[in-house]
Amino acid sequence: MNNIVIFGAPGCGKGTQSEKLIERYGLHHISTGEVLRDHIARDTDLGKVANQYISEGKLIPDELMIDILAHTLDNEAKEAKGVIFDGFPRTLPQAHALKKMLKERGTDVHAVIGLEVPEDILVDRLINRGIQTGRADDNLETIKKRLEVYHDQTTPLKGYYTDEKLYHDIAGDKTPDEVFEDIVSRLDPIFCPAEEK
Ligand code: AMP
Repeated sequence: MNNIVIFGAPGCGKGTQSEKLIERYGLHHISTGEVLRDHIARDTDLGKVANQYISEGKLIPDELMIDILAHTLDNEAKEAKGVIFDGFPRTLPQAHALKKMLKERGTDVHAVIGLEVPEDILVDRLINRGIQTGRADDNLETIKKRLEVYHDQTTPLKGYYTDEKLYHDIAGDKTPDEVFEDIVSRLDPIFCPAEEK
């Protein structure tokens, strides 16, 4: 399995780049935000709990989130030849849990893509997405809280994955195609594109 973590602040373009990467490398996409929004839409017990955290811009507690990820991995990605993890891990305990979880399944994280975008651009993008999609947590108050949470709880992952020699820093404030070109220039030497396999 070839596994990629795509990482960055809300609005950095994780979802857009994930779609392109899935096509190029034939990966299975796991977006923890999408998994949670699906539960909210179906009004499941998990959806009710998740909604409280998401609407306040807070992270779902690690223990719960790690269980959800393990369940998703075993149910949706068993046959996958690789996974792109979009929105997970978001904390150091999640990163340690991901490593353990993948090791138990005979695999590992092979590359981490960190998308760097200045904060004023992130806020503009998220406000626009809120207007276009109606996504409930894309309002100014929740956006500010999510960015604060990102700086406090998620940025330590850069150091962790740099030490693991997996981190690729990519400027995300260009067009989606330009950002994708930069990403593939780092990943092609590691993963063969799907059509070449
Ligand atoms: P996203 O779609 O990745 O921006 O995630 C939307 C929201 O879902 C986040 O603001 C968090 O409240 C929650 N969430 C998604 N992934 C995680 C995670 N790995 N850990 C904790 N909360 C998460």
